Amino acid sequence: MVARVMLDLALRREFDYSIPPGLEGRVEVGSRVRVPFGSGLRLGVVTALAESSEQKALKAIDEVLGEQSLLTPKILDLARWLAGYYCCSVEHALRSVLPEAVRKEEAGWKERLYVHALPPGGTSVPELTPRQQSVWNIIEEWRELPLQELVRLAETTPATVRNLEDKGYVVIAPRREERDPYAHERFLPTQPLVLNGEQQTALAAIRKAMGPSGSLPEPGGIPPGVFLLHGVTGSGKTEVYLQALAHALEQGRGGIVLVPEISLTPQTVERFKARFSSGPLRTLVAVLHSQLSAGERHDEWHKIRQGRARIVIGARSAVFAPVDPLGLIIVDEEHEHSYKQEEMPRYHARDVAVVRGQREGAAVVLGSATPSMESYYNAKRGKYTLLELRNRVTDTRLPIVRVVDLRQERRKGRGSGPSVFSEPLREAIQQRLERSEQTILFLNRRGYSSSLQCEQCGFVAGCPNCSVSLTFHRQAQEIRCHICGYAATVPSQCPQCSNPRIRFSGIGTERVEDSIRKLFPKARVSRMDTDTLKRKDDYRKVLTEFRTGKIDILVGTQMIAKGLHFPNVTLVGIIHADLALHLPDFRAGERTFQLLTQVSGRAGRGDVEGEVFVQTFTPFHPAIQFARRHDYEGFYDQELEFRQQLRYPPLARVALLTLQGRNDDKVKFSADHLAKAITARLSGWPDLILAGPAPAPLMRAETLYRHQILIRTRAMARLSLELAAVQQGLSLPEDVALGIDIDPVDLS
Ligand code: ADP
Ligand code: ZN
Repeated sequence: MVARVMLDLALRREFDYSIPPGLEGRVEVGSRVRVPFGSGLRLGVVTALAESSEQKALKAIDEVLGEQSLLTPKILDLARWLAGYYCCSVEHALRSVLPEAVRKEEAGWKERLYVHALPPGGTSVPELTPRQQSVWNIIEEWRELPLQELVRLAETTPATVRNLEDKGYVVIAPRREERDPYAHERFLPTQPLVLNGEQQTALAAIRKAMGPSGSLPEPGGIPPGVFLLHGVTGSGKTEVYLQALAHALEQGRGGIVLVPEISLTPQTVERFKARFSSGPLRTLVAVLHSQLSAGERHDEWHKIRQGRARIVIGARSAVFAPVDPLGLIIVDEEHEHSYKQEEMPRYHARDVAVVRGQREGAAVVLGSATPSMESYYNAKRGKYTLLELRNRVTDTRLPIVRVVDLRQERRKGRGSGPSVFSEPLREAIQQRLERSEQTILFLNRRGYSSSLQCEQCGFVAGCPNCSVSLTFHRQAQEIRCHICGYAATVPSQCPQCSNPRIRFSGIGTERVEDSIRKLFPKARVSRMDTDTLKRKDDYRKVLTEFRTGKIDILVGTQMIAKGLHFPNVTLVGIIHADLALHLPDFRAGERTFQLLTQVSGRAGRGDVEGEVFVQTFTPFHPAIQFARRHDYEGFYDQELEFRQQLRYPPLARVALLTLQGRNDDKVKFSADHLAKAITARLSGWPDLILAGPAPAPLMRAETLYRHQILIRTRAMARLSLELAAVQQGLSLPEDVALGIDIDPVDLS
C-alpha cells in the first residue's frame, strides 16, 4: 500500500510513501505522519491511499502521530476547495483548517500524576514509618488523588509518596486531564422557550429542510439549503438557533455556531452551554476562539473530533470544526467583516459555511439585523430562503433616533471649536444621570485626536513608515501610528517651521472620555477600546461593572456596538456618524448603516423606551436617514441601485490584487506588468472589468509601497483559477510581493 502525503511546506505537490509493515492499519486518509524528506524528517498529512505509485523508489513513512486521524475526507475536500477559490496552496489552506495547537508534533493532552491506593496486600506488606503512615491514612480514605494534591493535604513531599509506592501501598501513574476553559463556571440548565408566531414560522422552515428527527437524511440527497434570518435586535434569533440545534441533535447530528470574536462573551457562551447541559439532548459544547491557550484549544478540538462535543461555538475558524455528521451551521451577525481572514488564505467564514453546508448536507442559517447586501440579494433572488422576525420579543419598541446636524450646531456658535457634544445630546445625558439610567457613547476612533497640525505652515505629523497621520494619545503623551504601531513623543513646536502653536484635530474616544468627565464631574465614566483593555479579563470586568450599575456612562469604539444587552441603557450617543462614510470603499454607506443600527440597538432593551442621538455633518445622507427610520429594506433598495450602476457586489464579485515592496517604482512597474499579463490571458472574457493599476488608498504601510488592481466579474470561481495560473507564470522582482484577495472586505 502507498500513501500520498502533503507536507507542511507550501510545495503545491504531494509525495508518495510506502507504508511499512509495522504501520499497516494505522495509516488512513487524514492521518498525521512524519516522513523522510530531503535530509531530515518532516510532518505531513495523508491525502489519499493507493495500491501502487508511479513514483519510483518510495521511502517509507516514519511514524503515525496521534490516536486518530486529524482530517476527515470531507474537511480535506473543503481545504481543496478553499485553496482553489481563494488562490492559495492546499498546504496553506490546511493550516487554517487544522488549528496550530492540533497540528504541532508535540501537541498533546495534559497529563497529571495520580496516586491510587492499592487494596491491602496480605501479610508481606512492609511496615510504615509514622510519616508514611500519616500519608497512607489520607490516601486510603480518598482512594485516589493527584500527586500534588496529596502532597499538599498531607504536608509531605513527593519522595515520601514514592516510598509508599516502593513498599507496595500505592501506585503513581500519569492520567490524561482535560483542560476546560469554562471549568470554573456553572451553567444552570434552561428549557426551550415557547416561541412566538414569527419564531415558530422560522424554526418550522429550518426543521422542515433538515428533515424529520430521529433519522439521518439520505447521503447525496438535496442539500437543505441556506436561510437568511433577518431579525431586528432582540427579536429572538438566538432562541431560534437553540431550537434548530436541538433538532440537529435529535437527528443524531451536530452543529456549529459562528459568532464574531467580539461577541464571544461569557454571556453568549453561557446561553448555549446552559441549554445543552442537561436533558436527553445533553452534549458538551466546545468553544473555539483566540483567547484560549494552545492546550485548551487542543482539548476542545479533540472533544469535537471524538464526537463528545456535538455543538461548537466559535469565531471564524470554527467553521472548520470536525463535527461529523453535521446538521446545521449558524452564522450570527453574518454581515460582520471579522468573518473575513485578512491573511492567507483570505477566506470568508460565512461563504465557507455556505459551501460546507452544501457539501455535507447541512442547513445553514445566516442571522443579522442588518444583513450584508450580498446575503439579502441572494435571499431576494430565491437562492437563500428569507425568514423575517419583525418585532422585538418583549414589547419594547425600537428606540427613537434623533439626528443632530453638527453644521447648525456650529453655526449657532454653541460649543465653539470642535466640541464633542451638541446641546441636545448634553441635555439628554444630564437627564439620564438625574434618572439613574445609563448611557453609551460611541465613537469608532481611539486616541485623543486623530491628527496634529501646525497652524502656521500646515505641517501634519505623519508616520515615517505609512501614509497616515499620527494619532495623539494623551494619557501616554505620545503620537502613534494605528497601522504599524510607530510611536513618538509629542513635539512642543512644529518640526518644520518651529511655530509653537500646534493644533489637535479630529476627536477620538480618549477625548470623549475627557470631555464627559469635565462636563459631568460626578458621573462614573469608563472607556472601552483596545487602549484600555490590556488584559484578557478587562473586557469582562468593565462589562460586569456596567451591568451592575457601577458605571453611568460607557465610552467606546465598535467593541461596545455589538450583542450587549443592558436593560438600563436608555441613551446612546453617536459622537460622529460620518467617520466611516468618507472612506474610499464602495461599502462605506453600508458599513455606516450597519454600525448605526447596531449601536442604536443597545438602547431601550428594558422597560424604558430608548433614545439615540446621531451627531453628523451630513444629516441627509441615506445611510443615516434610513438608519434613523429603522428601514433596512429602504436602505437596501437605494444601495442596490448604486451598486448596479457601478457593477459592484452583489451584482458582481471582486478580486483585489495588491503588490507591495520597498521600492515604489519597482512596485508600480510590477503592477503594470501584472495588469498586462492578466489582460492578455483574459482577453475576450465577457464580463470582466479591470481597474488600475493605481496606488492603493493606503499608499504605504509598514515601509512598503502599495499598488492595486481591482477586477470585477460574475464568474469568480473561474477567475480564481485563471489568477492562480497567471501568478504561477509571473516573475516578479524579489522584493515585490503579490497578494490576491478574493471577495475582499477591506479595500485599503
Ligand atoms: P436576538 O438574538 O434576536 O438579539 P435574543 O434571542 O437575544 O434576540 O432575544 C432577546 C430576549 O428575548 C432574550 O432575553 C431571550 O431570552 C428572550 N426571548 C427570546 N424568545 C423568546 C420567547 N419566545 N419568549 C420569551 N422570551 C423570549
Ligand atoms: Zn505607521
